[in-house]
Amino acid sequence: MLFYKTQEEIEYIRESSLLVAKALAEVAVVIRPGITTLELDRVAETFIRDNKGVPAFLNYNGFPNSLCISVNSQVVHGIPGNTPLKDGDICSVDCGVLKNGFYGDSAYTFIVGDVDPETVRLLKVTQECLEKGIKMAVSGNRLGDISYSIQEHAENNGFSVVRELVGHGIGRHLHEKPEVPNYGKRGSGLVLREGLVIAIEPMINLGGRAVVHEGDGWTVRTADNKPSAHYEHTLAIRKDKADVLSTFSFVEEALKNNSQYKVIE
Ligand code: MG
Ligand code: MG
Repeated sequence: MLFYKTQEEIEYIRESSLLVAKALAEVAVVIRPGITTLELDRVAETFIRDNKGVPAFLNYNGFPNSLCISVNSQVVHGIPGNTPLKDGDICSVDCGVLKNGFYGDSAYTFIVGDVDPETVRLLKVTQECLEKGIKMAVSGNRLGDISYSIQEHAENNGFSVVRELVGHGIGRHLHEKPEVPNYGKRGSGLVLREGLVIAIEPMINLGGRAVVHEGDGWTVRTADNKPSAHYEHTLAIRKDKADVLSTFSFVEEALKNNSQYKVIE
């Protein structure tokens, strides 16, 4: 079942998505070598609750925290913990919020201190993959056009696409139809129509595409232990250009003021 949203519903999803964007910016203010991922989780949860939102991931199928934080070779669904971030780490922070009955969902991969250039390139290309997917998210295109554009850009740059996890519709539920894979055939799949709201979230690996599940029941990691990057936006399908409901602008602004952080050029 596909849910097409009214403009009023889209505005609620925007409000939730902007709260996610600002929660990620709170993380951007404090992220540095030495901080634990549990501390980042607390910062985000406090901010979300102070702004009358509910952390969407907390207790979702039993997930124990408000953020999914996935470090280095962890792809997604990492559980915040007491291990401090180290100089040279990358750290994917995925955040979801429920407010006014609607969900928002967005993720950003941060660099921590000095990260090696090939990994920095992985982050840059993954963010470009997201942008390319969003460009295709207009009415009349097909779902496969989004998927293909992401896969093509990742693989043209020598990276690989995770197949086991995909983007998704979003609205009154955190995960709705359709699934939005980051790989696929141009011109295939569902025809996109205005009012469809989806989260596009490329998960791109520096090495091979295979992933394994860790023993905690949640964390997904690359099989070859090489780094993986993850960026995500929530957006509404429109005629000429998608309406991106989440934003990285607050994160980027916060990172400029974080003296520990080296902005990627
Ligand atoms: Mg997410
Ligand atoms: Mg998502």
